[in-house]
Amino acid sequence: MDDCRAEAARRGWTVAEEYVDDDVSAYSAKTRPAYERMLVDLAEGRRDGVIVWHMDRLHRRPAELERFVDTCTTAGVRDVVTLSGDIDLAKGDGLLMARLLAAVAANESDAKRRRGARKALEIAESGRPVMGGPRPFGFEGDRVSHHPAEAAVIRDLAARALAGETLTSLATWLQNEGVRTVGGKEWRTNTVRQLLTNPRMWGMRVHRGQVIGTATWEPIITADQGERLRRLLLDPARRTNRTARRYLLTGMLRCGKCGNRLYSMPKNGKRRYGCAMGPDQRGCGGVFIYAEMLEGFIADAVLYRLDSADMHQVISGAPDEEQTRVLADAIQADTAQLVDLAKVYADRSISTQEWLTARDRIQTRLEAGRRAFALLTHRDAVADYIGRGDELRAQWDGLTFSRQVAIVKAVLNQATILPAAVPGRHGLDPNRVLADWRV
Ligand SMILES: [Zn+2]
Repeated sequence: MDDCRAEAARRGWTVAEEYVDDDVSAYSAKTRPAYERMLVDLAEGRRDGVIVWHMDRLHRRPAELERFVDTCTTAGVRDVVTLSGDIDLAKGDGLLMARLLAAVAANESDAKRRRGARKALEIAESGRPVMGGPRPFGFEGDRVSHHPAEAAVIRDLAARALAGETLTSLATWLQNEGVRTVGGKEWRTNTVRQLLTNPRMWGMRVHRGQVIGTATWEPIITADQGERLRRLLLDPARRTNRTARRYLLTGMLRCGKCGNRLYSMPKNGKRRYGCAMGPDQRGCGGVFIYAEMLEGFIADAVLYRLDSADMHQVISGAPDEEQTRVLADAIQADTAQLVDLAKVYADRSISTQEWLTARDRIQTRLEAGRRAFALLTHRDAVADYIGRGDELRAQWDGLTFSRQVAIVKAVLNQATILPAAVPGRHGLDPNRVLADWRV
């Protein structure tokens, strides 16, 4: 990039846009959104020149070069500069040069790829690590010995994720602790997800995106934890909902008058839950409750219940592995089916009515599956705290928000809020809260 900027400055060109496609993963389908955008900009006459470090950045296959050349020729773009020598596409030999370079590059990389692939598979099958590139987080430079401090961080992250903390919260925690990636960068939700779902962490050897056997290194977390992390963090439903929640009881409160869900409806800057009424809402608008005191009340009740004996009985014991697996598979199948269904509808193979009917049935099943999955996995959130409610109470305010939500959800199914006996009265009337406990 620096070389290209310097070249633009040397020529006195104004840089209108920098098109960068980072190679995110070796296994991802190689779409290049910035490159595609550049072609559109060239075709529509918004750009009159291109500076590129080397022709091999412009295309990976000869066919791609042809497309690039076509676009430039049609749009009258002639200034295509490579730092390894100018190529004037308007001239016959410029194009020939570019094509030759492309053909040579393609041929070289094919042969290299074939040789490399054979060797890589051989190494993978022996369980030895891939060398070259930055070392993986949690391991020393030999890619086999554990990096003690980083391995401890991974174990901590795994336990927290399985206990219901969100990726956002985990990434924030890493940032606050000053933990950096191997490249010295701050952690993001997607890099935390990649880390925790990488089978390398539980001693598996991955080759071209597939686990192909046991690795020569010791696992950092158990295979059981790893499999649960994959199901939890790669659940498609989770990816779409990343917004931070400020209301502890969102989704868990019902209106005592009409039975609809209560939503966050702050008033005069004070957090409040309420029954919403309006064109898009089916509520009655008859029940409101301030969040602060209600959340404190519910949290106390949750912590109290964590000390009770029957709670212990229900929650002790690890989640049923088989059941979790079956549920996760069903959720994935239903999600995929919804996508397929939309395609069938888009092709006009079915009517709107047929689409709606089928969609509703799949969605009902999907939601039931998600609820059951949440119940199973949320048990981890409280398993540590059974019989230690007092201790948890002391720590409660210091817990991250998502951790608090996970703990409340593990214990409380929902609470119905009755209308205020004396409207406008200050303080919380406990008789207004009818809690439906899971246990
Ligand atoms: Zn209502």
